[in-house]
Amino acid sequence: MGTPEYAFALGTATTRAWNFFTRKNRMRFALPPPPTVSVPVVGTDERFPVRRIYCVGRNYEEHAKEMGFTGREPPFFFLKPTDATVVAETGQTATLAYPSLTHNLHHEVELVVAIGRGGKNILAANAKQHIYGYAVGLDMTRRDLQSEMKKQGRPWCIGKAHDQSAPIGPITPLAQAGDITQATLWLQVNGGDRQRSQISKLIWSVGEIIEHLSAAWELQGGDLIYTGTPQGVAAVVSGDTMRAGVDGLTQISVRVV
Ligand code: MN
Repeated sequence: MGTPEYAFALGTATTRAWNFFTRKNRMRFALPPPPTVSVPVVGTDERFPVRRIYCVGRNYEEHAKEMGFTGREPPFFFLKPTDATVVAETGQTATLAYPSLTHNLHHEVELVVAIGRGGKNILAANAKQHIYGYAVGLDMTRRDLQSEMKKQGRPWCIGKAHDQSAPIGPITPLAQAGDITQATLWLQVNGGDRQRSQISKLIWSVGEIIEHLSAAWELQGGDLIYTGTPQGVAAVVSGDTMRAGVDGLTQISVRVV
C-alpha cells in the first residue's frame, strides 16, 4: 500500500514529522494500520482528517416532541466510530448498505460542525475561533434497536454507532459558509420532502454545543459534531435515495442498497 496522495487540511507539519519518524525508525505494524478517515474540503484539494464524531441528541423542539419528550433539557451527547463515515463526494451519489439487525432504519439530517482548533472549557462566545467549517451529515439510526436500548436503560451504541451510520458531505470552510444560523436544512427521499427546518430552531446553538461538549471532553482539530435533527425522521429502505442540504453548503446524495 503506497502513501495516500492526500494533503490534509490540519496537522500537515505533524504528518510530515510522523512520516519522518516512521521511516527513520522503520516502525512495522502487526497488521496494516487503518487508513486515515478524511472528508473533502470545498475549494481545495486538501482533505479534513476525522478524529472523533460527536453527536447531540434531541436538539430541535419538534423532533424532541415526536420522540416523546418536551422542553429544553441540557444537551446530551453520544459518539459514532470515526470509520462509520460515508463520504458523499460533490456531484456523486454515495451508497449505503442497509445495515444488519434492523427493520427500521431512520434518516436524520443534521448540520455538522468541523473543529479546526481544539480546546477545553471553550465559551460559546469564543466558539467560532475553533470552527474549521460546516457540512451536511446524516445521523443514520437503527430506530428499533435504539428504542429497545432506551427502554432497557442501556447504551445506544447498537442503534446509533453501526457501520456506515455517519454519511457526510464536503466541508465548507467557515469564511465561505455564509451565515449558517439563518440557513434552512432539508432532506428528501426519492424527491419527496421528509425533513425541513431552520438552523435557528436549534435548542442549543452551535456555540452552546461547543461550550457543553468541551467541558466534558477536550476537543481537537479533526473532531466532527453532528448537531441534531429536526422533526420528520422516518424510515428508508433499500433502493431509496436521500438528498439533503443546508443553505450555503454542498448538498449530499446517498442511496441505500
Ligand atoms: Mn441525531
